[in-house]
Amino acid sequence: MKRLLILVLLLAWFNTQLYAVTVLLDPGHGGSDTGAKMFYSYVDKHGKKRNLHVLEKDLSLIFAKKIQEKLKKQGVLVHLSRSYDHEISLDGRAELAQKLKADLFISIHMNASTNRMSRGFETFYLDNHNDVAIKKVEDIENVGLTGDQLIIKQIITDLIVDRTAKASRLLAQTVHAKIKKKTNKSFKIKDRGIKPGLFYVLAMAKRPGILLEVSFLSNPKELKKVLTPEFQEAYSNAVVDGVISYLRK
Ligand SMILES: [Zn+2]
Repeated sequence: MKRLLILVLLLAWFNTQLYAVTVLLDPGHGGSDTGAKMFYSYVDKHGKKRNLHVLEKDLSLIFAKKIQEKLKKQGVLVHLSRSYDHEISLDGRAELAQKLKADLFISIHMNASTNRMSRGFETFYLDNHNDVAIKKVEDIENVGLTGDQLIIKQIITDLIVDRTAKASRLLAQTVHAKIKKKTNKSFKIKDRGIKPGLFYVLAMAKRPGILLEVSFLSNPKELKKVLTPEFQEAYSNAVVDGVISYLRK
C-alpha cells in the first residue's frame, strides 16, 4: 500500500513537471507567404480528374494542429504561433516565443526543390556550419529578411548558439529518431538526417528549438504520402513521442 502511494505521488509529481513546460509550435509561412506550392492531380471516385493546389502554409498548419492536440493530451502546455491562415513575420514568431516564455520552439515546414527527385525528411537545429546544400534550405526559410536583420542575425546567432546548441541538438536527435522509427519504414520516406542550420526564426526565438522539414512537396511520391491522414497521424505522433522523451531526459 505504501509502495502504491509512493508510486502515485511520483506519477503526480512527474505530471506536474510536464505541465510546467511550454512548447511553441510554429507552422511555417501564412497569408500571402504561401511557402512551397505544388499542383497535385488525382482521379476522384467518380473517375474525374481533379487538380489540387497544395500550399506549404496549409500543410504546416495541419501538422502543427495535430501535434498541438496530441501534446496537450500529454499534459504539455502548447501554443501555436498562428492558428489560422495569416501572415506573421519571423520576428513576430520569435517575439511570441519570448512573450510566452516558451521552453521549446518547434518550427514546421515542407521542403521543395527544383529537382523532383529530392526526397526525405530532415531536422535542423541552430548551429554554425559550412554546408552549401543547407544554405539553400536556409535561403528559402529565411526569405523576406532585410539587410539589417541579416546583420543582427549573425551577431545574435553566435550568442544563441553558445547557449542553446547542446539542448537543441538533443531535441533534434530525440525527435528525429522517433520520426525515423514511425515513418522511415512504413512510408518509405528517406532519412536525410539531423543538420545544423542558421535559421533566423530559431536564432531570434532564443531558446532550444528545431526546424522540421517534413518531406519534399516537389517530389510527386512524397507529396501524395504527405496528403494522407495516415502519414500526418504517424508523423505527428512521432514528434509528440520525441518531445515527451526529450522532456523526460
Ligand atoms: Zn518553409
